[in-house]
This record gives sequence, structure tokens and C-alpha cells, in this order.
Amino acid sequence: MPAKAPITQDVLTIPRREEAGGPLNLVGLTRDGMRAALIEAGTPERQAKMRVGQIWQWIYHWGVRDFARMTNLAKDYRAMLAERFEIALPEVVTRQVSEDGTRKYLVRIAGGHEVEVVYIPEEDRGTLCISSQVGCTLTCTFCHTGTQKLVRNLTVAEIVGQIMIARDDLGEWPVPGAPKDETRLLSNIVLMGMGEPLYNFENVRDAMRIAMDPEGISLSRRRITLSTSGVVPEIARTATEIGCNLAVSFHATTDAVRDVLVPINKRWPIADLLDALRAYPGLSNSERITFEYVMLKGVNDSDEDARRLVRLIKGIPAKINLIPFNEWPGAPYVRSDWSRIRAFADIIYKAGYASPIRTPRGEDIMAACGQLKSATERARKTRAEIAAEAGLS
Ligand code: SAH
Ligand code: SF4
Repeated sequence: MPAKAPITQDVLTIPRREEAGGPLNLVGLTRDGMRAALIEAGTPERQAKMRVGQIWQWIYHWGVRDFARMTNLAKDYRAMLAERFEIALPEVVTRQVSEDGTRKYLVRIAGGHEVEVVYIPEEDRGTLCISSQVGCTLTCTFCHTGTQKLVRNLTVAEIVGQIMIARDDLGEWPVPGAPKDETRLLSNIVLMGMGEPLYNFENVRDAMRIAMDPEGISLSRRRITLSTSGVVPEIARTATEIGCNLAVSFHATTDAVRDVLVPINKRWPIADLLDALRAYPGLSNSERITFEYVMLKGVNDSDEDARRLVRLIKGIPAKINLIPFNEWPGAPYVRSDWSRIRAFADIIYKAGYASPIRTPRGEDIMAACGQLKSATERARKTRAEIAAEAGLS
């Protein structure tokens, strides 16, 4: 019998595989990190930069996993690489495809933990929703992930690995000699899966830098959106160190309600959050902040809420993304009626803001926003605990 996983709200740290004597995974290393590793393995310093460039292209441009296929490297050198290093991705456990084409992958990472990754095809784009943590230490009362007790930060390799897994499945690595195809199946990334990305900032940053690197996956910073529940001290770094778009899980217009829905609000209340957003570097009409707002019947969906929301965000280049609540087993809320959502959207739209209503995708496979939670995760909170946190008991 395998030992039971510890049940804890603390973020677990696991020993890196290479510390246990195994080969070092090249996936997830920064260019500097890869250079240092190659030198350590005997690559002459004056060649190291060039070798990094070559290997980087094989891994991130061509999607090659086998050192033997790196034909612009000498045979001996390839043999050395194969001995000392590996090119390893997390393992795909299951792959489900929704009626609407949404794909959900359950991915197993070191320690036997699982995270979910969702691919959402649309007419003009294909968005991959990736996870930054196993579970989440925050306990937003409407979010399924927040009910999962076991939490650990994902490594850089595990974050960038989710993108590589999706490209594998979509068959999207380029073929040498084929005409360049400008339409990408995987064109956008949103950090809106499991976890709070700003609680795992360095790993998320390094993974996004790999995804943006022009000699590899080469996604533009404008096609990446990081969603945070409002970790105020880390917000500015998102702009200066990653440069991607920012989305904020706002969800309420008074501290009393937001304290319940997004409990991190008790630490950084609405006024502090708005100050940080006003100061977000590089903010402009072409680079607006997305305010995410989940529509919960009778909780945050009144006309008064809509008007207060407009007043609060005055002066911030913004769009408001209304998310119809996605229900999950035991959830303590229900989705607002469509007529209510439309009335709410209308007030915001008339105040001059784009107010798209997000179409729920992949609901039949529990892939919609906030429904992610690894099915094999046994440390579930009881319904009573969930209700107590929502202040409903
Ligand atoms: N932790 C980050 C990113 C992951 S959640 C954050 O909270 O921003 C991505 C988005 O889905 C957030 O806006 C979150 O509030 C929303 N969400 C969570 N549970 C949901 C649910 N059941 N229905 C609809 N949206 C939900
Ligand atoms: Fe964590 Fe985001 Fe879910 Fe809140 S909404 S519990 S921050 S994943």
C-alpha cells in the first residue's frame, strides 16, 4: 500500500529528481540555467552559449525529445547529453473531449499529484488554460479548486510542460521543410487553471519566459493572461518581469461580500487592490486590465452592484468579463439568471466598458472555469466545511 498523502494547507516542497541522483531535466531551465548545466557536464565555456541555442531550438521549436535526433550536434556530444540529461514532461493520465471541442487533460506530476489543463478552441484562437499549483491555498468559496486541501507549487518544467503536452496532442510542432503556418491552434495562454499564480511567481515567470522566447514556442506577451485573486504586493512584477496581460478576480463590490467570496480580501481589501491596479505599469487602452466577475444569484448580481463596480474602477483602462457561475457538486451558490446577467452587463456596457459574458465551455467534462479539481484527490472538504466558509451554516 502506498503511504497516504499528507493532508496539509502548507505548500509542499519535493526534492528535485536530480538531487536524488537521476538525470537533470532540461525542460524548465532558463537559458542561463541550461548554460550552467552544460558547462558543469563538461561543455567548454566558449561553446556553451551556442550549444544552448541549438538544444533550445530542438526542444522548444521542433518539440524533439530524443537527443539522438539533434543532428547538428556531434555524436559523442549527443551521447553525453543522453547520459546526463533528460527531456521530460509530466505524464498525461486522461484526455477528455467535450461536445463543444474543449479538451481536458489530467496530468500527473512528481509525487503522484495531478493537475488539470484545458484547451478551448474558438473561431479566431485556441486558448490553453494552465495550472500553476496543485490545488490552491486560498479558499474562495465559489471555487472547486479552493476546496482541495493538498497544495504544492508546480515547477517551471511542470508549467511549461503543460503547454508542450497540448502542442503534442494538437500535433502542432513544426515539420522541417513544411511551409510556415501562421494560424496556430494553440495561440493564447491563460493562467486560470488550478492555483494562484502570484503565489508561485518565480516559476510562473520563468515558464512564461520560456513560452515567449522567440527561438522556441514564441508566444507574444500579449497572448498570455495571468489571473490573480489579488495578491497586491506581486501585481506590479507581473508587468515588469513577465509583461503579460493581467486579469483580476474581482467578484464583489463591497469588502463585506468580497471577504466571503475571495477571502484574500481580508488581507488586501478592495481599496488596496484598486491602488495596485491603478499603478499597474504599462496600462493603456490597448492593454487593459480584465476584471473577472462571477455571477452568483442573489449574492453579487444586483443593479446596485453593477453601478458600484463602475464607480470603483473609474479611471482604470478595463474590460469586465462576466462569468456565469459554473456549478460543481456541493457548491454553496447558484448561477444568476440569464436575464439578470444581461441586465448587469448592460449597465456596465452603457458606462463605456466592454462587458462580455463568458460562455461556459466544456461543462459536460467539468472543464469550465472553477470546476477543476483532481478527481483522485482524496482530501476533500466536507459540504459542511464548504458551507461554513461561505457563511451559510
Ligand atoms: N487563482 C487565480 C486563477 C485561477 S481561477 C484567480 O483566482 O484569479 C480563474 C477564474 O475562474 C477566476 O476568476 C476565478 O474566480 C474563476 N472561478 C473560480 N471558480 C469558478 C466557478 N465555479 N465558476 C465560475 N468562475 C469561477
Ligand atoms: Fe484559488 Fe483562484 Fe480558486 Fe480562489 S478562485 S481558490 S485563488 S484558484
